[in-house]
Amino acid sequence: MLPWLSACYVAATLSAEYGREQALGSESISNEADKCVKCGLCLAVCPTYSLLHVETESPRGRVALMQAVVDAGEAAEGRLAAHLDHCLSCRRCEPACPSGVAYGALMDDMRALRFEQSSLPTRGVGRWLRAMLTGRPFGWAVGLQRILPALGRWGRAVKRWPRGTFSNGMNYVGDESSERPLVLLFPGCVSRHLDTALLDDTEWLLKRLGFRVRRSDELRCCGALHRHAGDGSRAERLETANRAFFERDGVHAVVSIASACAAHLHETNRDVPVFEVSDFIARHLPESGLKPGTLELNVLLHVPCSQQYPGPGSDPLERLLTSIPGVNWHYPESGFGCCGAAGSYMFREPEMAARLLQPLLGEIRAAAVDCVVSTNIGCALHIASGLDDATPVRHPISLLVEALIVRNEG
Ligand code: SF4
Ligand code: SF4
Repeated sequence: MLPWLSACYVAATLSAEYGREQALGSESISNEADKCVKCGLCLAVCPTYSLLHVETESPRGRVALMQAVVDAGEAAEGRLAAHLDHCLSCRRCEPACPSGVAYGALMDDMRALRFEQSSLPTRGVGRWLRAMLTGRPFGWAVGLQRILPALGRWGRAVKRWPRGTFSNGMNYVGDESSERPLVLLFPGCVSRHLDTALLDDTEWLLKRLGFRVRRSDELRCCGALHRHAGDGSRAERLETANRAFFERDGVHAVVSIASACAAHLHETNRDVPVFEVSDFIARHLPESGLKPGTLELNVLLHVPCSQQYPGPGSDPLERLLTSIPGVNWHYPESGFGCCGAAGSYMFREPEMAARLLQPLLGEIRAAAVDCVVSTNIGCALHIASGLDDATPVRHPISLLVEALIVRNEG
């Protein structure tokens, strides 16, 4: 399949989930923005402020802009809208804030309000375009022209997939005894198409660790893309449908192979524990007795924003990579702390996404690493889209399964 067709296929998969929106009131935005004491402690951690060095591209500046928009009772347009659109929703500013401004929720509320105010169409392909281009009335044609190059780059990255194949043909069935805890493997709306081999590897590993595993096509998109695009109504329906599935039949835990899905599922499910897969495996690998074989690899470890805020952090990734003999890993030292992918951001804001990615690409090339490791498929695709050479972007579970199967066989 042509690369760009692959990218369009995934885009169409996402678009099929979009529906009518439900705007939130401006009062909640105003109340949350009022908590900001303008101290500026959040500026140093913000990727867009670090790149552009202007107040309106900082968390403090955006909180002030949101306050001004709701006070004026008018739609955000032009440059003002662009400053809000440039926000990655990475939430790096939240832990830095002494006033506890819930910046992620604040931006979601603001996008819901703008989604309601937008005059773009609400049906068919227009729904997806509208979600991608919220806040740019009549600018959709220009926006489409801007995202086509990103689709092309993404398509070429898709062509270099998949990221895991090591358990293929192993046919490990495992003990299906009901005594074993049941893990629901969450496929994700993109990963279910692009990361099927990684899902297979993860299922194999979970069974080797003593779990029963269930995968189901009935599980829906986690709703994060809709929530962050302002479509709160559709996000709520997806979250509710998944929650009902999770609460069936004594599910012990839900495990997601994409850190962004895991973060959103974790925040929208309080009754069933949800884990990012590296976190779950790192908790259970030591007691399993499984011993990875040696992989002689130099690895650059990229930690997605969703892995850190509100995810489990980098600790499980460090423990997994350290458990594989021969793997030498390090964190990137340059860049703005974010690869620039940020879900649909790489399509909505392709120029900003590309600029934020450049320092990381430079470091990858200079370090001549054997591979990059990342736990989120959106980040992995965005990074891979900038690497024309053969440097693969892999998932830590893919490395671990290779070390357990291939290297132990040799
Ligand atoms: S969410 Fe990220 S990009 Fe947006 S203001 Fe906060 S730190 Fe900056
Ligand atoms: S750290 Fe919090 S209180 Fe301080 S400027 Fe940033 S958002 Fe406002």
